[in-house]
Amino acid sequence: MTKPKKPAPRILTVKDAFYLTPHMIRVVFQGPELASVYAGCAGANCKIFVPEIGQTRADFEACFVDGPAPVKRTYTVRSFDPDTLEMVIDFVAHGDEGPASAWAMRAETGSFLGFAGPSEVKIKEFYADWYLVAADMSALPVAGAALEAMPRDAKGVAIFEVQSAEDAQDLDVPAGIDVHWLVQANPHKPSTAQEEFMRNMVWPEGVVQTCVAGESGVIKAIRGYFTKERELPRDDVYISGYWKIGLIEDEHQLVKRQEAAAV
Ligand SMILES: Cc1cc2nc3c(=O)[nH]c(=O)nc-3n(C[C@H](O)[C@H](O)[C@H](O)COP(=O)(O)OP(=O)(O)OC[C@H]3O[C@@H](n4cnc5c(N)ncnc54)[C@H](O)[C@@H]3O)c2cc1C
Repeated sequence: MTKPKKPAPRILTVKDAFYLTPHMIRVVFQGPELASVYAGCAGANCKIFVPEIGQTRADFEACFVDGPAPVKRTYTVRSFDPDTLEMVIDFVAHGDEGPASAWAMRAETGSFLGFAGPSEVKIKEFYADWYLVAADMSALPVAGAALEAMPRDAKGVAIFEVQSAEDAQDLDVPAGIDVHWLVQANPHKPSTAQEEFMRNMVWPEGVVQTCVAGESGVIKAIRGYFTKERELPRDDVYISGYWKIGLIEDEHQLVKRQEAAAV
């Protein structure tokens, strides 16, 4: 039986784009193409298809029919308002070597890209005695959305690793969550700061649910700590490598698939 063809990505139009903090660009998309997106998808991931710099909308749309396939990347829906049909995606501005980052750095009203998804949200139920959230800048959107979705009486710890003190964001965090901002100016330098923080903090009693994501090397070390030393049940843990130093996303996804197959 032939596999059903995936629907063509929607082409989204930028309503506004601006630097939220020195290394984070907030892009607001708006339009009727977003009418079928489900409410409550903040924190879910999506695929974006990135136009080449200077490419016309018509030429970009033609790529989905005639090729070559546009560059595809994974991002997070930071927020979605079904009434105004506005969707926000936050992009780390990490320079021109990444097509998605380069696109975001040039995005302005009227810019466009392809969009597929969103998938399901990462944490569907909040049932823990306490929560452990940790993120670098690439995972700030999923962490921010999780913190916003939590019960308002949630307790726990949130650890963020950002490139400068000015990259700290104003997040809607339950009062019982202790928030810590760590600064690591060079994201390409392997960091143990989040893991060390977790190892040194008081680990509360009871069931913990986690929302942890970021650079793959950092995540690998923390995953080992969670599974081998803390023996956290798989179902309580969301932990995921979002990018890897020195690899473009396609290469990183391949490594992830190979590692998953080897388990
Ligand atoms: C489920 C999921 C959700 C994600 N959500 C978001 C999100 O909402 N916002 C977001 O910004 N990112 C998010 N990411 C990460 C994003 O997919 C990667 O950062 C991706 O590599 C960016 O594509 P690019 O074209 O800019 O760079 P690529 O072409 O993939 O990479 C080019 C170079 O840039 C480096 N690089 C990639 N990402 C970063 C970074 N964050 N900081 C410094 N250097 C980097 C690579 O190591 C490589 O050397 C998510 C990833 C996953 C798996």
